[in-house]
Amino acid sequence: MEDFIKLCYRTTCYHCQKDVDQNITAVPNGAQVVCGNCRATRAYVPVIEEISKKGDYVKPGCYDIWNLVSTALCRQCKVNGPHDITIGCRNFTVRCRNCGFTHLFRFNLEYVDDPVESAV
Ligand SMILES: [Zn+2]
Ligand SMILES: [Zn+2]
Repeated sequence: MEDFIKLCYRTTCYHCQKDVDQNITAVPNGAQVVCGNCRATRAYVPVIEEISKKGDYVKPGCYDIWNLVSTALCRQCKVNGPHDITIGCRNFTVRCRNCGFTHLFRFNLEYVDDPVESAV
């Protein structure tokens, strides 16, 4: 499946504590954030897709919310334009700026995808 959203965000990894790129990908049936250094992965599962107001799913009390923007093709209005990507401790949302169509994902699990161990 093609990637709907694909971008990098450089920040301090919660796992290895290094300031490195976190690789963010999202498709309609799932989203994930993978540390470019230690491969610590946070996986999100889809909850709902609907038109929403900006900030509808931002839960107060979340520390360290990432607010990102990426160009993507909206499945609702078919416009290839800016989408707001908000990643918090529980939720991951992708919202079309043109029509407000939002993909909401919920945090599911966290694991380290260790290529050294899996290659043995
Ligand atoms: Zn890391
Ligand atoms: Zn749209």
